[in-house]
Order: sequence, then C-alpha cells, then structure tokens
Amino acid sequence: MVSMNKSSYHSSTRSCQMEVCTVGGYEEVGKNMTAVKVGEDVVIFDAGFHLPSVIELQENEVFQQYTERKLRNAGAIPDDLILDKLGWRNKVKAIVIGHAHLDHIGAIPYISQRYPKATIMASPFTMAVIDSILEDDKMRVHNTKKVVQANSIHKISENMKVEFIHTTHSTIQCYFIALHTKEGIFFYGLDFKFDNYPTMGNPPNYKRMKELSKKGVKVLVADALYSGTEKKPGGEAIAKHLLQEAFSRAEGKNSALFITTFSSHIERLKNIVEFAQKTNRQIIFLGRSLNKYVNSAISVGQCPFANKIKLIKYRRQINSFLAKIERDRGRYLVVCTGHQAEKGSILDRIVKGETPFKFKPGDNLIFSSSVIPVQPNQMLRERLDKKLRNMGVKLQTNVHVHGHGSREDLRDLIELLKPKHVIPAHGSLEQETPFIELASEFGYKFGETSHLSSNGKLLKF
Ligand SMILES: [Zn+2]
Repeated sequence: MVSMNKSSYHSSTRSCQMEVCTVGGYEEVGKNMTAVKVGEDVVIFDAGFHLPSVIELQENEVFQQYTERKLRNAGAIPDDLILDKLGWRNKVKAIVIGHAHLDHIGAIPYISQRYPKATIMASPFTMAVIDSILEDDKMRVHNTKKVVQANSIHKISENMKVEFIHTTHSTIQCYFIALHTKEGIFFYGLDFKFDNYPTMGNPPNYKRMKELSKKGVKVLVADALYSGTEKKPGGEAIAKHLLQEAFSRAEGKNSALFITTFSSHIERLKNIVEFAQKTNRQIIFLGRSLNKYVNSAISVGQCPFANKIKLIKYRRQINSFLAKIERDRGRYLVVCTGHQAEKGSILDRIVKGETPFKFKPGDNLIFSSSVIPVQPNQMLRERLDKKLRNMGVKLQTNVHVHGHGSREDLRDLIELLKPKHVIPAHGSLEQETPFIELASEFGYKFGETSHLSSNGKLLKF
C-alpha cells in the first residue's frame, strides 16, 4: 500500500502496479463498489444501493423521480466521482457484477451511463433482475451487456481477463470474480457463505479457487460482515428444517397463513413452496419485488416451483385476491413482501388497513427472514410486529439463516486462495476489524499485507 510509508512510496514509480479504489461499502453495509486499475485498464466491481438511505428517501417521495445527483448526495449510491478525480473514468472496460442483491446492482441504472464504453457483465439471473429493474423504473442503459455463465473466463482487454467463479450466498447464480492481470489476480469475494449442501444449485467451486491460489492471488477483497462471529450461520438445509418446524406450528384450518421472506432468495422460496404444498392450500405470491425476482428466475429457467404458484403483481389484482382471502382464509397460503416493513409492501399495506384483507386473532404469519441490522429497518419492523401482535396474529420470526459467511468461512477463503494482500469489505469499521485479527493468525501484517480501507480511498500494490 503506497500512501502510508516511505519504502512502498518507491513502488509507486513502477511502470505497472495494481491499484484498488475502494469506492463504496467499506464503511457501511451497502453501496458496494470497487474499482481496480492495472496499466491503462480499469474494471468496476458492483454498483449497489445503500438501502437505508434509499428507504429514507422513499419514506417521503416517489423513488423513480430520483436523479443520479440526488441519490449520490443522499449517500444512496457509491460516490464514484472519485474515479473522475483519479483520471480513471474513461479507462473503465467493464462493470462486473457478483450477484443480484440491490446493494450490489441498485446503482447500475444511475451510474453506468458515466462509463459508456464499459460492458456490464453478470450471470443470467442477475442480468434478468437488472433488466427487470430498468423496465419497472422506465430507465435505460446504453452499455453493452454480456451474460456470463458460472466458471467462465472472458478477455476484456489486451492485458485483462475476468473470470466468474460459482459460489453460494442467499440468492441464485452468485459469483466470485477473479481479475487476471499481468500484476497477478485480483479476487473479489463479495458476498458469500460456503454452503456445501445447498438445497438448490451446486456447492462453491473450491477446485478453481485452489487453482487460482497456485497462479497467485495478489489481492483479496472479502465479505467481512460476520468476520467477528465464530459460529457458522448454517446452510440452507438448516433453514429448510426451521421452515418445516414453523409450518407444523402454524395452526387453524380456517385461519390465514402468510409467510414473508427475501424476494431474491429463490432457494428459500423453493423450500417454502415445498412445505406450502403439503398444506393443500393454493399458493399465492403477492408483491412487486417477489414478481421481479421470481419472473427473472423463470426467465432463465431457474424457478423449479413456477407451475405450483400463482404470481400476482398489480395492485388492483392484489386487492381483489386479498378480498377472496378475506372471505375464505383457510383456502390460501400467501407468500408476500414486507419482512423489513418496507413502505408499500403487502404487509405494510395490510396493517395500515389499505387492503380488503384484515388480520384476525389466530391468523399465522411466518417471517423467514431476519431484520437487516440497520436503524431504519429495526425501527420499522418493531412497529410492524407490535401492530400485528395487537391484531392477535401468531408470529413466528427469524425462521431463517443468513447468507454471509462467519469467521470460519473467511478462514477457509484465505486458506483456499492464499492471497498476498487482504482487504475486508461489506461492513462498518467495527464489522471489518475482526477480519484483520483473523488475517493476523495467518501471518498477515496490518498496514503491510492486511489493509483496512474506507470509501473513496486508493490502495496501491
Ligand atoms: Zn448479497
């Protein structure tokens, strides 16, 4: 790292080096973006929303009205103007995306026009979600888009190749991304949780990670969100077991049965549908974001439960279905949006009395989710839970395992890749610091081979 000490200062005069600009996501959970430059080529990794800032904006206004500038000023998208200051903006060859979560893709419609020569590269599912967001928000991007398969490698310039390596997380078709350069490999390790027994799709491609370690990984950026937690979160098979328990506890043949989860968690939705089928109720999916993600999964052949559900998107149809459920509540099982109490979600609208359906004592609601540990979400969910309990709804919360690896997963990642330098990301300073301690167990020295960064900082290797 150059900026800190004299000896490394000399290395900045070398003709070529690997420069990493930690644009966003290094001080908070959200607005992930990292840019890497070697020679005259730059690659951007992810361009996401800072969701708490987006929620705050949405509380007051219609979201589609926002401009790039307004979002940037609100801290809702990465402050990528730093790339102009560095003189990198016209050198960006590709914007490569790891997975379909909004904190990784949300800013694409707003910032990609700044890099017209850059090709946007993502998995079939991730690209389908990006396209669906653009369509819903009536926006366009003019960049070339390239759908890339897991475990594929692509030349993006004379001196750079980019490789997408299958990993597991909490949505489908998640990739680690390796940038092959003449300075060595830059490895982008966001987001992941190693699940060796996934209930949909394959386990992570450990074999390729080991191969890359032999080729020489120079820098690893890692998902350090839970680097301070020893206990493994558990794989999706554990969540499946929790769901089975929750369904067995949901009582009342004539009571309503609702379940809410992350709309992007296709694997979880598959497991929910599996148990929902056993209730012999008709399975209804309600809400805009569920539609977005489930239809994206259908469009790329990744929705094994497509013909087992009825998917309803538009408000008028939703209301007429909720009226039917109100009249015959034992007949349906509803999967809906609103686990974070998002404004305009189905649960939000029901508790505000804006729908023909009202919860009654004895109705069941399962939260197959956890509250995202940021202030606005926590506050909104507390309020929602209180209202629901006052209505007499039987709540089962936290029927969930999260999708970020713990300290053990990070240990495995370092052992697999044996990177020369490590940088924790995807968290606040407090969340990233335990990763530095972990790295020291492997002999990494803080300030020399392990680096704590912050938004907008430039590191040179
Ligand atoms: Zn994620």
